[in-house]
Amino acid sequence: MPAEATVAAETYPEIRDAVAKLCTRFPGDYWRGLDREMAYPTAFVQELTQAGYLSILIPEEYGGSGLPLSAAAAVLEEIQRAGCNGGACHAQMYTMGTLLRHGSKAQKTRYLPAIAEGKLRLQAFGVTEPASGTDTSALRTTARRDGDHYVVKGQKIWTSRAEHSDLLLLLARTAPQVGGDKRTDGLSVLLVDMREALGHGLAIRPIRTMMNHATTEVFFDDLRVPAENLVGEEGKGFRYILSGMNAERILIAAECVGDAKWFTEKSSAYARDRNVFGRPIGQNQGVQFPIARAYANMRAAELMVREALRLYEAGANPGPEANMAKMLAADASFEAANACVQTHGGFGFAEEYDIERKFRETRLYQVAPVSTNLILSYLAEHVLGLPRSY
Ligand SMILES: Cc1cc2nc3c(=O)[nH]c(=O)nc-3n(C[C@H](O)[C@H](O)[C@H](O)COP(=O)(O)OP(=O)(O)OC[C@H]3O[C@@H](n4cnc5c(N)ncnc54)[C@H](O)[C@@H]3O)c2cc1C
Repeated sequence: MPAEATVAAETYPEIRDAVAKLCTRFPGDYWRGLDREMAYPTAFVQELTQAGYLSILIPEEYGGSGLPLSAAAAVLEEIQRAGCNGGACHAQMYTMGTLLRHGSKAQKTRYLPAIAEGKLRLQAFGVTEPASGTDTSALRTTARRDGDHYVVKGQKIWTSRAEHSDLLLLLARTAPQVGGDKRTDGLSVLLVDMREALGHGLAIRPIRTMMNHATTEVFFDDLRVPAENLVGEEGKGFRYILSGMNAERILIAAECVGDAKWFTEKSSAYARDRNVFGRPIGQNQGVQFPIARAYANMRAAELMVREALRLYEAGANPGPEANMAKMLAADASFEAANACVQTHGGFGFAEEYDIERKFRETRLYQVAPVSTNLILSYLAEHVLGLPRSY
């Protein structure tokens, strides 16, 4: 890939270089080994934590770097671009926003310095449930107030990294659902300390998936959570989670841009070097064009990520741009992944090239954390003024 085309506009070059250097200590065979065992990249996450990258958004007064979202985006993009997998730890970056914006002073003082020091992990985010799916307002897990505790009952699904996190940011129902405009009321956010809870009302069951993502089902059976762990006001949790979603979408989009760059670099290098019929396969336009098209789409997505970051950091609430960035970047990364497999012919399927692993990993972002259809319906309704479809 022409270096000047991507490097010129890059933010935080020192952070990017340092992250890229750290990632060289975790090459393909590290990830392949974990993938085979479906094991968690503990050493990788520990190094990122110790280097301070996962606490980049925590304000300096609580021991973090106090940098803006674009710094977190730069870290995650570089991780993916180096062939590593930020899915193992990216949630710490975006779940943090809920605690930062809506947590009490006491909660921030209690948790943030320990997270920044790497003594406490906030990597799990429990919203999705088996029955409600995308319709978060229909979730059924309840948190009933009982004296100075909440008693939590229900189940979450796809709670990633729950086995590798100390804290869980949980969305649960504290009041019955009502209809109309208030259908998202009555949900509350609780910070659950899973170290104390495991085996005392909390059970975690791993789900094996097509890629190594440490995702789980979490069961709550009258789990007692201290009332002081309520984040913000009771009943307003949906709003708090929504306000964090723009950051989450932008960061995932940055990861997809990083993936697309990794795939495109691999495709271009292989197309230049592989000789068939006495010439490089990359001399054929049938091989060049899918790579070039994926590159163009990645660059367009990258611009949308930058625009979403610019608006976010200016204090706006860039729902359309964050959603478009996520959709365009996820599409670009999957397009680049597909072109990469095709360019490599049979070798695209061989484990040792890492392409099939990255292909499986980047496929997720068409579905999570929000599926492409839901982004399109958001744009149709909120930007284009079309009738609500669900
Ligand atoms: C590996 C993995 C990790 C995840 N990690 C987490 C996590 O850490 N925490 C968490 O809370 N969740 C997590 N999720 C859940 C993820 O956010 C959901 O899977 C996703 O939002 C889709 O919800 P669903 O699976 O229930 O699909 P459903 O809601 O059942 O939807 C199924 C399909 O129907 C489509 N669809 C549904 N309704 C409509 C409609 N009205 N119009 C058009 N199309 C529609 C969807 O786009 C989707 O393609 C994870 C999921 C996976 C697979």
